[in-house]
Parts: sequence; C-alpha cells; structure tokens
Amino acid sequence: MPSELSTDVLIVGAGVAGLWLNARLRRLGYSTLLVESATLGGGQSIKSQGIIHGGAKYALHGALTGASEAIADMPRRWREALQGSGELDLSGVRLLSEAHYLWSPGTLAGNLTSFFASKAVRGRVDQVKGEQLPPALQDKAFKGKVYRLAELVVDVPSLIARLAALAGDSLLRGEQIQPWHDGAGRLLGLSVDGRPIAAQRVVLSAGAGTEALLAALGIEQPAMQRRPLHMILAKGDSLKPLYAHCLGGGPKPRLTVTTHPAANGQWVWYIGGDIAESEGVARSPEQQIATAKKELGQLLPWIDLSQVQWATLRVDRAEPAQSGLVRPDNAFLAEQQGLLVGWPTKLALAPDFADRVITSLQQAGIKPGNHAPLPDLPRPLPGTPAWEQLLP
Ligand code: FAD
Repeated sequence: MPSELSTDVLIVGAGVAGLWLNARLRRLGYSTLLVESATLGGGQSIKSQGIIHGGAKYALHGALTGASEAIADMPRRWREALQGSGELDLSGVRLLSEAHYLWSPGTLAGNLTSFFASKAVRGRVDQVKGEQLPPALQDKAFKGKVYRLAELVVDVPSLIARLAALAGDSLLRGEQIQPWHDGAGRLLGLSVDGRPIAAQRVVLSAGAGTEALLAALGIEQPAMQRRPLHMILAKGDSLKPLYAHCLGGGPKPRLTVTTHPAANGQWVWYIGGDIAESEGVARSPEQQIATAKKELGQLLPWIDLSQVQWATLRVDRAEPAQSGLVRPDNAFLAEQQGLLVGWPTKLALAPDFADRVITSLQQAGIKPGNHAPLPDLPRPLPGTPAWEQLLP
C-alpha cells in the first residue's frame, strides 16, 4: 500500500477553481494536495471562453440582482493578478483582449436603455467607432453600435499552465477516491488510489465530477445541475480577432464570440451565447454549423467563410442546482462535516470561490500545520484546448 500522506487542505479537482484555491492557500502558508483524475483544466475551464465578466451581460435583463453586483469586482482582481501585483502572481499569462465588446447590429440600440441605466455598467461602457472597432468589425459595410466593456479575456491554457506552476509539488494524479473516516464517522481525509491522505479540511471542486464524488461519499446535498451547451468552433485565415456579445432582441446575447490562437498561427472563433443553448443543444452538429454559418453570413457578410473549417463541441456547465436552470451569479460553497463542496459557476469567479473557502478555514480556526515533505507523486498533465483536438 502507498505510504500515508498528511496535508492541511486536500482539494479534489484541478480546474480553475481548485488550482486558484490551491495557489492562494499555498501563498497563505497552508500545505495542500490537489488531486486530479484527468488533465489540469481539461473539464470546463479550458473549454470556457475566458471572459472575465464584470456582470455587464447580466445587466441586459434590466433588473440587476445584488449578486451580479458582486461579480463587478472580478475584472479588477484579475487585472491585478495578471500584472503580478494581486492576490496571485499571474504575470506571463496571455491576455487575449483588454476588453470584451457589446455589439448591437442594426437598430437594436433601443433595447439597451435599461442596460445603460444599471449600476454594473455605469461609467464602464464606452461606445467605439472606426479604428477602435474590433478588427473583424472594421468594414465599411458594418452597421450597428459597438460598446467596449471593461471585461478582460484571458488565454485559459496559459492561465492553467501558470496556476500549475504555482502549485509546486502539490499536484497528484489520482482516480479512485474513497472517504476515510475514523471509528466515530468523522472524516479524516480521503483515500486516493489506495493511499490514505489525512487533511484538516477536504474541498471538492471537481466541476461536473463533484456529483459522483458526493454520491461515493454518501452525501446528498448540495445537489448539482448541468447546463448543456453546443458550442461552435471556426478556424481560418479570414477570421480576425473578435471578442463580443452580439445582441439579439432578448435578454441573452444572440452570439458570444471569442477568438483563440491555434498552434498553427490561425485564429479560432469560439461561438457560444443563445445559439449554443437549448435550441442549439437540440441541433445535430451539422445543423448547428449550418445555423452558425447563416448567422455569421447575415451579421458579417464581408467575412469570407468559404475556406473556414468548422466543428462543434458539446459540454455541460456544472453548477449548484437552481430552480428553472437559472444562472447563479456567485461562487457557491457548502460545508458539511469537514467537507467543503462548491462550484465557482464561472471562471471569472474563481477568486470568489477561493475567498469563500479561506473564510471558512479562518472561521473554523484552521491554521497551517507541520507535515512531512511529500514523496515523488504521479502528476497530472495539462489539458489540450478543444480547437487543437477538434480542428488540428
Ligand atoms: P472544471 O474546470 O470542470 O474542473 C474540474 C476538474 O475536476 C476537472 O479537471 C476534472 O477532471 C476533475 N475531476 C472530476 N472528477 C474528479 C474526481 N473524481 N477526482 C479528481 N478530479 C476530478 N466562465 C467565465 O467566467 N467566462 C467564460 O467566458 C466562460 N465560458 C464558458 C464557456 C463554456 C463552453 C463553458 C462550458 C463554461 C464557461 N464558463 C465561463 C464557466 C467556467 O468554465 C466554469 O465555471 C469553470 O471553468 C469551472 O471551473 P471548475 O474548476 O469548477 O471546473
């Protein structure tokens, strides 16, 4: 049997939530182990669009909740971390865009009245024209209004690589996870591939995998929901950078386009928004690609799509269960019997998720302890971006 290990905080799941938390805890002097069954970030994180939302999109609903005000601080916290002066040193992580844009084609600007009246966007949105427009919209045929939102877009693969570097020797590849209780039923830690790991606290941040972990631990709450998406990827020389929500008539963006660098030097458009939600999920990949081509042909007729390669990606967002599949606007953390379980609900909210865990440790009086140095452990590899897998 592998030798027993001990640590302060044992984290399961190395997506952005687990990796960010791990780096924060190590900075605070805690010893940690972060267990990953597949690849680093390869769940939802590397499949995300990398937008560091400040809540502006949610202001489109007109009524802004208190929770969406809480997200408003995330762009500042990320910007400081990316500059190396924040809660983590993320210098070297590639910033894809300093801003995300909101683009209303044609005459939809009327829908934006309540949006501009809301607190989350006041003073943080500027209209842009001419050369300030995103490159893909710089065409004399372009009609519509474009607003610059103070929201960043990060290159998630480079973010995951940096967070993995900050993890030092704390990463462990492990698949079989079982609870480890004492005779009185108290959680001592977990057994990972047969190796007992004692911890002062265990954190489950395994994204969609948390549901099965809770079942294995015999715990019913918190319940999880999955929100399925059917994303579209397009790769080609004619595609220039675009980071924008394109508005339709409704409260959700019709399309959300982000642009990612492929290994061969081309750009990949990664398309979500309303097109990737319920009706999009019901479409076959061929129908979904045909719908995207039609939408882009109507919205951006000057872009030559004839040589573009297409693919689609089905992926679920994992979130705490909510009535009616509404989107939670905050990181979520629940605590029971020495176990902390949660979902950041957004990549952007990873700092908020870490805050919640740290607050819980501090409230429980958990301090860094003394632990034996770690032996050589099997390490998980980084995840591969979807565009390299689907459009090599
Ligand atoms: P994950 O990244 O899913 O990581 C969980 C990890 O746990 C995985 O590596 C998995 O392998 C591991 N795991 C699972 N089970 C086990 C187990 N039993 N043992 C050990 N490890 C296990 N958010 C934004 O803020 N901005 C965006 O632009 C954005 N775009 C998105 C686009 C898409 C298509 C999707 C799907 C999501 C998007 N999100 C976005 C949401 C964001 O991606 C997620 O909220 C965030 O990445 C979740 O991080 P996580 O660490 O909780 O989960």
